[in-house]
Amino acid sequence: MSNPIQFISTRGKTGPVSFTEAMKQGLAPDGGLYMPDNIPVLPDEFWKQLQSRSIQDLSIDIVRPYLEAEINGGGFGSDLPNRIIQSAITFDAPLVQLKKNLYLLELFHGPTLAFKDFGARFMARAFSKLDNTAGTEQDLLVLVATSGDTGSAVAHGFYGVEGTRVCLLYPSGKVSELQEKQMTTLGGNVHALEVDGTFDQCQSLVKKAFSDRELRQKLRLSSANSINIARLLPQSFYYVYGLGQLQERLGPDVKPIYTVPSGNFGNLVAGLIAMKMGMPVTGFIAATNRNDVVPKFLSTGRFTPKKSVQTISNAMDVGNPSNFERIEFLFDKSHHEIQKTISGASFSDEQTREAIGKVYRDTGYTVDPHTAVGILAAESYLSEKSVDEMAPVVVLSTAHPSKFRHVVEEETGRPVDIPERLKACMNKKKIALQVESGYDPFRQYLQGNLDS
Ligand SMILES: *Cc1c(COP(=O)(O)O)cnc(C)c1O
Repeated sequence: MSNPIQFISTRGKTGPVSFTEAMKQGLAPDGGLYMPDNIPVLPDEFWKQLQSRSIQDLSIDIVRPYLEAEINGGGFGSDLPNRIIQSAITFDAPLVQLKKNLYLLELFHGPTLAFKDFGARFMARAFSKLDNTAGTEQDLLVLVATSGDTGSAVAHGFYGVEGTRVCLLYPSGKVSELQEKQMTTLGGNVHALEVDGTFDQCQSLVKKAFSDRELRQKLRLSSANSINIARLLPQSFYYVYGLGQLQERLGPDVKPIYTVPSGNFGNLVAGLIAMKMGMPVTGFIAATNRNDVVPKFLSTGRFTPKKSVQTISNAMDVGNPSNFERIEFLFDKSHHEIQKTISGASFSDEQTREAIGKVYRDTGYTVDPHTAVGILAAESYLSEKSVDEMAPVVVLSTAHPSKFRHVVEEETGRPVDIPERLKACMNKKKIALQVESGYDPFRQYLQGNLDS
């Protein structure tokens, strides 16, 4: 028997902790990001029998080793992974073929129509199941500053989860109408604060609350930030599930290339973790918009963070991706090893718009701007290879086109179909409390809110 997996910081200056502890802390005390101290390789039979297994079924096997300490030491029972997965992963991730050698893995069938639903829902369910103080203690208060997609995924993930409350802070007038609707129409344990300020000011309010000792003695605060290991780990599930679907079409020996539209690089790191679990893959393509620090690093070996620039694929507008640290950690900081596994490509808004139009005209399929960046990278790879050296490419389709329908409709010239779950929230009334960007009113709100 090997030792149960523990979680260590990428900076190596804090002791190992359990999954539950890593999830509760979010960021490690030394400022690093949590990673498993080892990633066990799943047996050959697992990889040979992916076909026709459901995503839930596969996810339970994948996540089990990481919860071993909770199951055995913590007394949560061997059905813990089962219970978390069955309540978190309640939607599919189908693979669709766009053309020869090019596939899309649709990750937008969750409640907020983007792949972040996988991580946010898993984390919310894991929290409620692993936090055995729920009911006996004060509710856990999850604080999130958001510029759009993260907030809606976290709000929906924690919505109705017993023992938790969510407080979202978003910059007034700076999120899309749809994103705002998704965040402000839930009610229940989800509270939205519309801050008269910028995203950075929202983030700084959250940071101040976390470093406010007096407040933290009164309230149980937590963050559901995208760097949380509990949001990252479940993103490995769909890589494996995607491979299973590809095996069904192309046979058991297929080794795809995954193309990942990237911003903060959590999604790509989850793919690397799946590879370390033994997933057969030819490699990864990191596809970015003009915020191209990682593609630049891949070609030059130098990582130079920049201020982010605004684009039409705005969930990828990140100038200093946090998860780069995890990529370096996984490859022992060897640029050469990283380069052997990941290649990079970046594209302008103009190219992205053109791609949305072209995909629609050629295939009748509508893609969102983030997915379009991935398709551009995939096409560029395929155009450089001869048929016999070509591996099939799977592009992660990170959002439903209706989330970015204005841009999409301009390029396709026809209205985007809006899924029922989005229509439903469009007709609901927005409930958000308008607040100033100063810390004192926010602090008072937090205290009053939980006392009542
Ligand atoms: C968050 C997001 C991304 C970027 O994912 P990372 O894990 O930050 O690289 C890409 N597309 C969409 C639609 C997103 O919401």
